[in-house]
Amino acid sequence: MSRILIVEDEERITRFLERGLQAAGFTCVCVGTGGDAVAMARDDVFDLVVLDLGLPDLDGHEVLRRLRSRGERLPVIILTARDGVDDTVRGLEGGADDYVTKPFRFAELLARVRVRLRPADTHESTVLRAGPVTLDLRTRRAQIGDRSVNLTSREFALAEVFARHPGQVLSREQLLSHVWGYDFAPDSNVVDVYVRYLRRKLGADVIETERGMGYRLRAD
Ligand code: CA
Repeated sequence: MSRILIVEDEERITRFLERGLQAAGFTCVCVGTGGDAVAMARDDVFDLVVLDLGLPDLDGHEVLRRLRSRGERLPVIILTARDGVDDTVRGLEGGADDYVTKPFRFAELLARVRVRLRPADTHESTVLRAGPVTLDLRTRRAQIGDRSVNLTSREFALAEVFARHPGQVLSREQLLSHVWGYDFAPDSNVVDVYVRYLRRKLGADVIETERGMGYRLRAD
C-alpha cells in the first residue's frame, strides 16, 4: 500500500485529500507546516508527497528545495493557486513532478497521483469493466454492452467512480467529493442531476437508487 504525505495548512482541504486518498486505498500522513513536512519526509518513508505551496512557515518551494537538496527523489505533486502561473513554473523547475491547480476536483488529483506511483514498466489495465459498463481510462471511451456511448468528462469521472466500486452503495457526499471537489456544498443536487444524465446514456437500470443512502452500479 502506498504511503502519501499530505502537506497542507487548510483543514478543509487536508480532510478532503485524506478522505479521498484513503478511500482510494492509500495510507496518508498529514502535516500543516513546511518544517513538519521536511522532518516527516526525513524520518518516515513515503511514496509520494502532495505539497501545498502556501504554508505558514517555510513555503512549499523551500520544502521542495530542502527535499531535493538532500537527494530525496520521491515524487512531489504541488498544489498551486489558479493565478499562480509563476509559482507553477518555479515549482516544476524546483523539482516538482506535477501540479494541480486549486480549486481542483479530487478525480484530477487522483489521476495524477496514480500516474506518479505507477512504475513505468508495469501495464496496469486501463480498461475497467463493471456490470454492463466498460470504460477505457486511456481513451476515455465508454461502452454499454457493445454500444459505445459518448460521455462528457464529468460524466466519465462519475461513471469511473461507480465502476471502481461495482455493487457498492455510494453516498451523494462520496460521489460529490470524488468527482466535484470541496467547492460544492454538500446539499448540492449536482450528483442527482449527473446520475440522471448517466442513466439516460447508459440505461435507466444501470444505476440503482438506494433510498436515503445513495446510488450503486448494478454489478451483474
Ligand atoms: Ca495553504
